[in-house]
Amino acid sequence: MIRVVVANQKGGVGKTTTAINLTTALAAIGGKVLLVDMDPQGNASTGLGVGQAQRERSSYDVLIGGATILDSVVATRVPRLDLLPATVDLSGAEVELVALDDRAHRLDKALDAVPPGRWDNCLIDCPPSLGLLTVNALVAARHLLVPLQCEFFALEGLSQLLQTVERIRLAFNPELAILGVALTMFDRRNNLSQAVAEDVRACLGNAVFETVIPRNVRLSEAPSHGLPALIYDLKCAGSEAYVRLARELMARLPQRAEAA
Ligand code: ATP
Ligand code: MG
Repeated sequence: MIRVVVANQKGGVGKTTTAINLTTALAAIGGKVLLVDMDPQGNASTGLGVGQAQRERSSYDVLIGGATILDSVVATRVPRLDLLPATVDLSGAEVELVALDDRAHRLDKALDAVPPGRWDNCLIDCPPSLGLLTVNALVAARHLLVPLQCEFFALEGLSQLLQTVERIRLAFNPELAILGVALTMFDRRNNLSQAVAEDVRACLGNAVFETVIPRNVRLSEAPSHGLPALIYDLKCAGSEAYVRLARELMARLPQRAEAA
């Protein structure tokens, strides 16, 4: 199972929107896909139409309570896309994890216990912080996808994230590598958006995906209907961009699940 972590400690940059729509695209082309919601806000769970009542077990139970992922996932309305949901319990997990010896490896171990072949791809949606929940996600994955909002402080936050990634590589997970940076909420009428996008490309080169996700109201409406934008409105500019991003993602990932 190829594991991709979607992280950026800045809030509201498009992590969850990216995680929901990329997993939907991967499932649409026939993959068996798992989305792990590691954010106490539970936005990925809500955005996929999995209400509180369906979150009988959650990522909290997997991290703290010893529940297995297999026993905790729920099917979503998207065929072949399963979700490990999050609840507000998870906000306490940061504190509870500190007392545990293997606090950084809880998610990694839980994913290791998943039978091979159950899912082809796993995306992990992180909260907007660099605390132990994000650390668990970074330890559990080999590939890092960073959504970056096209606004002024975008690059400042990125250097802090990259320092954390370097620490995690040294201490826990030498294989962790940046798969790509995805520019989000791009507004082509806004000169600043253009300037930031150019700056980021000058600074990060090929690490930046060619596809740019535009600011698009359909992308923000979709979660309130409990649907990925790709299903809510496949033809909108935002969905079309996520389909292109998914193609780029696939091209950058190893072709065989065993290799990752
Ligand atoms: P958090 O850090 O709180 O987890 P996040 O990084 O996961 O936030 P999202 O929840 O994906 O960010 O997006 C923040 C808000 O912006 C949401 O209301 C979402 O619907 C909206 N949004 C995301 N991407 C776009 C876009 N390309 N165009 C317009 N609205 C967007
Ligand atoms: Mg989010």
